[in-house]
Amino acid sequence: MDSLWSKSFDGVRNFPRLSQDICCDVCIVGAGIFGVTCAYYLNLLGFDVVVIDKDDIAGKTTGNTTGKITSQHGLFYSYLINNFGHHFAGLYLEANESAITNIKSIIDKENISCDFSFENNFVYTTDFDRLKSIRDEVEAVRSLNFPCEFASSVGLPFNIAGSVCFKNQAQFHPLKYVWGLCNSICDSTRFFTHTTVSDVRQDNGSYVVSCDDVGYRVRSKFVILACHYPFINVPGFYFTKMYQSSSYLIAVDTKKSLFDGMFISADSPSFSFRTAKFGKKNLLLIGGAEHKTGSYCNYDSTYGVLENLAKKYYPDCDVLFRWNTRDCVSLDKIPYIGLFANNLPNFYVGTGFKKWGMSLSNVAANIVVDMITGKDNVYSSIFNSSRLNPIKNRDEFKNMVVQSSKSLLIDKIKRSHLHFEDIPLNSGGIVEVNGDKVGFFRDVDDNIFAVSPFCTHLGCLLSWNDVDKTWDCPCHGSRFDYTGKNLYDPAFKDLKVFDVMD
Ligand SMILES: Cc1cc2nc3c(=O)[nH]c(=O)nc-3n(C[C@H](O)[C@H](O)[C@H](O)COP(=O)(O)OP(=O)(O)OC[C@H]3O[C@@H](n4cnc5c(N)ncnc54)[C@H](O)[C@@H]3O)c2cc1C
Repeated sequence: MDSLWSKSFDGVRNFPRLSQDICCDVCIVGAGIFGVTCAYYLNLLGFDVVVIDKDDIAGKTTGNTTGKITSQHGLFYSYLINNFGHHFAGLYLEANESAITNIKSIIDKENISCDFSFENNFVYTTDFDRLKSIRDEVEAVRSLNFPCEFASSVGLPFNIAGSVCFKNQAQFHPLKYVWGLCNSICDSTRFFTHTTVSDVRQDNGSYVVSCDDVGYRVRSKFVILACHYPFINVPGFYFTKMYQSSSYLIAVDTKKSLFDGMFISADSPSFSFRTAKFGKKNLLLIGGAEHKTGSYCNYDSTYGVLENLAKKYYPDCDVLFRWNTRDCVSLDKIPYIGLFANNLPNFYVGTGFKKWGMSLSNVAANIVVDMITGKDNVYSSIFNSSRLNPIKNRDEFKNMVVQSSKSLLIDKIKRSHLHFEDIPLNSGGIVEVNGDKVGFFRDVDDNIFAVSPFCTHLGCLLSWNDVDKTWDCPCHGSRFDYTGKNLYDPAFKDLKVFDVMD
């Protein structure tokens, strides 16, 4: 399912695969918005930078985002003040506000045409019982000396109970922006795509970044793991501190004039709205239907929900594009930015952007680049990647432990009672064959695809995703297509494929 962004941008160019051993100052693993922003800043400072991606530039989460650039990450400031204090919350707000300014400066400096516009951003509720949480958030933000407003009339096609409004937030076309960054530096920064990094090791005071699929290595003094979800499990142990959450988007031609602004509801289920250009049309983007990646979903519970909402308010609308992606969420809801692990100097990470990576990736890139150049960064302490704080989000922690134990231990030994004949055409499921679990997909012509349904990251039992026809990991969110090809991190190896004649 293609995003509006990929269908409205034809500037994707091919970069080579890595084809020899090379050396550089900084090797960046991953060319999403975080990796490319790091490359951009380091290039300005004269570093010799190599960027490696297993896919295309911005082809994964970044290419499928909603593209809102805001410091308003839900009703977040009451949460931050209550759990981490005023000083922490103030720094978080300031860091993300600076990111909006930084992104605008880059766009102006490099003359990047990416449909950037300043917009008001609203977090709203339609539920009068939740109005207090909106008013509390207004108070919380004002206590940080930021001029937010309470608004109850916002221009949406339905009534709301109230909202918190941040002015001078922004939106853009994420692919045009990241490709603009890439184009501005690619004469002096080496990009390699369709090259998978399989290992990073210390060696004689530098790092060796191995790409087993092409058989070559990069030696560098500094490494930045910008691969979304770290695929290196030990040290770091990020797989014990984060989960992935999927959300869905549709782009709709409403055939009506649309409202200004960007919106997200504080209710459950939560919906997100913005507008975006598509040729001469102004489309409405509706996002939502969030669920933990790897948990059960079907068309009705995902795109169906968004389409019903669109039809309710715009009965004559056409849904032009549907897409989805997922992002990492840390248990305390704070990203991990900085040293990958305390015992690995010069090795950095930025992850856990919890669906707000447009601004947070800029914050992260500035922190990591300052660490590389030895410059102080006032925001680095709040995102400390090796923090061992008590887990604030106990519910999520419990969910994660229960889900991981279930997929890693219980489901693996539990017999599957599904029979092959019970799998409908164009669907998949796990069947026991001679005591072993096999993941089958039957396409519409009854061609059969059989894979080993165990994640190549840490061995969890995968679940079938009937919306995208993929095998998804309920533990850490890796995804594979029905032929077994790895699509999403943290796994990077394909599934074992069985010959159906076996
Ligand atoms: C539905 C949805 C809507 C969102 N909307 C917004 C929004 O409106 N505003 C906002 O601020 N944020 C939003 N986000 C969040 C934002 O999109 C992400 O936080 C951000 O794109 C993450 O960027 P990244 O560079 O860390 O990851 P990615 O874009 O995923 O980049 C990581 C790159 O690393 C590569 N990679 C992975 N493993 C390897 C490997 N082993 N070797 C080589 N390369 C590798 C991948 O191919 C990929 O290109 C949204 C998220 C979702 C899920």
